[in-house]
Amino acid sequence: MLPRFIVLHHFVASPFESIQSQIRRSLAIKNNQESYHYVVLTNGQHVQLNDINKPIGHCGVDDKSARINNYNSIGVCCWGNYEYGTMSESQYNGLRKLIISLLLQNREMKDEHHIVRHKDVCRTACPGRYYPYNELKGDIRMLRKPKQLIFDITNDKIVVDEVVKEGKMLNIWGTTVVAIRSLLEALNYSVSFNKGTQQVIAKDKGE
Ligand SMILES: [Zn+2]
Repeated sequence: MLPRFIVLHHFVASPFESIQSQIRRSLAIKNNQESYHYVVLTNGQHVQLNDINKPIGHCGVDDKSARINNYNSIGVCCWGNYEYGTMSESQYNGLRKLIISLLLQNREMKDEHHIVRHKDVCRTACPGRYYPYNELKGDIRMLRKPKQLIFDITNDKIVVDEVVKEGKMLNIWGTTVVAIRSLLEALNYSVSFNKGTQQVIAKDKGE
């Protein structure tokens, strides 16, 4: 089964352990019953412990009919105890980079709704009250592909999901709708041109 969720964990250990020790201790749990797919170290580097398609007992739910379980999720664990301390910027940046690359590689996971904390899945404090979950979700939300784009040629405006942005270039684009069309179609948008309003409307076709 292709993974549909990312479950976030913390690795209850001192953030002051050396990177070598963090790598060694992460790899030591590789074959444990309760392991992870990735461990993000305090310097932002990550260690992959298992292939993402291999089920790991990281989230404590073996029932395949549960919405989020060990068979449909990737376990991403950050070194450190986030019940008591906050995450460093370098570790957060490494975590965000890993999460974004996992989302880009997996079509089943499109947005921040596919990223949950261990405590959202079962009774646990993991990944801790100071884990930067909302910040991470906010950063992922910013990457979301718009559902609809309108290129309003006459008024020189672009409307992205009903939010108006000044166009400044559209009157030049008026003659190059064909070029815009091929770009948008490559991004999985259906494109139509309304002659009356002089608007190019692009709608995300979704899956
Ligand atoms: Zn956990």
